[in-house]
Amino acid sequence: MRDPRYDILFQPQKIGPVTAKNRFYQVPHCNGGGYRDPSAAAAMRGIKAQGGWGVIFTEQTEMHHSSEITPFIELRLWEDQDIPSIAKMAAAMKTHGALAGIQLAYSGINGPNMYTKEVPLAPSALPIRTFTNDPVQARAMDKTDIRNLRRWFVTAAKRSQTAGFDLICLYGAHGFGIFQHFLSRATNQRSDEYGGSLENRSRFAREVIADMRDAVGDSMALTLRVSLDESIGALGFSNAEVRDFIAMNADLPDLWDLAMGTWEDCSGPSRFKPEAAQEVWVSGIRALSSRPVVGVGRFTSPDVMVRMITSGTLDFIGCARPSIADPFLPAKIDAGRIEDIRECIGCNICITGDMTQGMGRCTQNPTWMEEWRRGWHPEQIATKGKSDSVLIIGSGPAGLEAALAASSRGYDVALAEAREVLGGRVARERLLPGLSAWGRVADYRLYQLQQRANVQLYPASTLSADDIMGFGFQHICVATGALWRADGVARQHITPLPADPRLPVFTPDDLMQGRLPSGQVVIYDDDHYYMGGVLAELCAQKGCAVTLITPSAFVSDWTANTLEQAAIHRRLVGLGVKILLNTGLAAIHADGVETNCSYTDARARLGCDAVVMVASRIGNDALYHALQARTADWADAGIRSVKLIGDAAAPAPIAWATFAGHRYARELDAPDIGDALPFRREVTALAAD
Ligand code: ADP
Ligand code: SF4
Repeated sequence: MRDPRYDILFQPQKIGPVTAKNRFYQVPHCNGGGYRDPSAAAAMRGIKAQGGWGVIFTEQTEMHHSSEITPFIELRLWEDQDIPSIAKMAAAMKTHGALAGIQLAYSGINGPNMYTKEVPLAPSALPIRTFTNDPVQARAMDKTDIRNLRRWFVTAAKRSQTAGFDLICLYGAHGFGIFQHFLSRATNQRSDEYGGSLENRSRFAREVIADMRDAVGDSMALTLRVSLDESIGALGFSNAEVRDFIAMNADLPDLWDLAMGTWEDCSGPSRFKPEAAQEVWVSGIRALSSRPVVGVGRFTSPDVMVRMITSGTLDFIGCARPSIADPFLPAKIDAGRIEDIRECIGCNICITGDMTQGMGRCTQNPTWMEEWRRGWHPEQIATKGKSDSVLIIGSGPAGLEAALAASSRGYDVALAEAREVLGGRVARERLLPGLSAWGRVADYRLYQLQQRANVQLYPASTLSADDIMGFGFQHICVATGALWRADGVARQHITPLPADPRLPVFTPDDLMQGRLPSGQVVIYDDDHYYMGGVLAELCAQKGCAVTLITPSAFVSDWTANTLEQAAIHRRLVGLGVKILLNTGLAAIHADGVETNCSYTDARARLGCDAVVMVASRIGNDALYHALQARTADWADAGIRSVKLIGDAAAPAPIAWATFAGHRYARELDAPDIGDALPFRREVTALAAD
């Protein structure tokens, strides 16, 4: 039963002409699938409807072909033939009484138009501002362009209505939408009635919303998403100006959707942004308008959500990542199942699907974006097949998720772990600076496993092949993880680098086990995800004089995909870490390292007391191979399968391990599909010639 403290979250709320059944509002979020995988994206939204969300939005939908953000894959509503695929999403959203919303985006100064080859249009003639420094500029819109764009918005609104949506969100946040480009002095340098004063800069938003109201406003709600602060100082659309804008246009939209700064500011990872980080920026705004307000802040705690409502800060609890990690978050609060919420850890792996044009992944929810492709439901799983028992070796994210999903199917599961503490890499990495929230990967699964009668947990149990052959389990899942290499092999070096053994070399595993360097420390990062930067932070905190060298042009360069690269660089500079970019590690000498320039191979010497080697990892697959060597004995031992999964098979981020564990359990006793593709794929139909 629901705790009455949370009743307030379930009060129906009016938004213009429509009413949301509760305050849970899934704000627009990308997923990597978009127009390329419309059925996968639609099914993902449908699961959120089942999970109890009151309002569910699409991702950004490019509403006219003259403004698009290729290579990023979002939705498109350029012509009538786009309607069926987005109508499929709207229908999925509405299956359980949720309101269906579409976010219409005209990307203006953010859209380089790499696909359509159209000249980008923006309030002022400036270079395109996106993640890549595309050598493209926008043409300043003239009055005819503005009239055209108003008409295009109306056309897009009518198409959205035809597709079955209840709400339209006009995108003017994160630097991505034309409404912000008009509102901000940074991107609007016009001298006509659309530029200059705030009233003039607001004109475009007022005109578009008035046009759309005339067209669809009797039945559809119109919301405006603006940045709480453009985060470029007083020159941009600052928080003070946002407040003036809202006070001046109090009744403009049916709902104010407020989101912080750039996307990096808004969706900052837990390493840099705590839950409810935007509270100071949004508080007080609700009093400026009679219209409801939605805000975000990686809300996972129902108590924080309630505080946001009772303090008068927000009317709706906006969630993107928490709704990805647990699409059933509202339903679980409603059912009094708080402890079953799979809390977002704020790692931002979900964002990498969009940034890499891959398919979205979530560290906590391995079923995300597999709802249609593989038929995976986050809360339901087929009951077990013919066999009964599974032994899982290793309690990292792969082993824990395999145990959770296999036990949900009804298998008898034993999970053995060599260490005293369960959790594998997560048990250690959660102790590193800024990564404590990552511990939720283990906490959530361990709590669930401890509730189950068909699960036995065996910490401090190092298993050998002999042990395993003697136990009588039918399926053996080897999830024994990986170790960081000390020999430097990664990308720069494909064989071990020359090293004088007199200089101490530490691996990330050493540091995580409390074996720390001291004095002058060189951190060599040829891994490029978070570990190098995190260990630089740790060593600096422990008083070392740290130099981070990397063959890349950026610190922790892959974290551009998790929207934290700039924040990492800033933090390291703040800690006094010396950063050498485009710099490799040529050799380790007794008194220091020899570096080489990534471009010219120019050598330099750098004295130090120790090297921290953040290179690559080697899977712990010895146990698996020992079992494979005894295939002939499996039948006598009652063994039907032995599988190697997670980091032990191929080291990768934690999300890859939870996916591998989940897939392992889903496929237990499944029929052999031979060479077939293991998921459904949507193939674009050929047009008639
Ligand atoms: P993954 O990310 O693939 O889940 P982790 O490295 O997080 O991998 O976890 C693997 C776990 O397996 C580690 O905690 C490690 O102690 C444990 N382990 C490795 N070998 C054995 C073994 N032979 N018996 C039991 N546990 C093992
Ligand atoms: Fe949260 Fe990470 Fe999942 Fe994204 S990938 S929803 S940040 S747990």
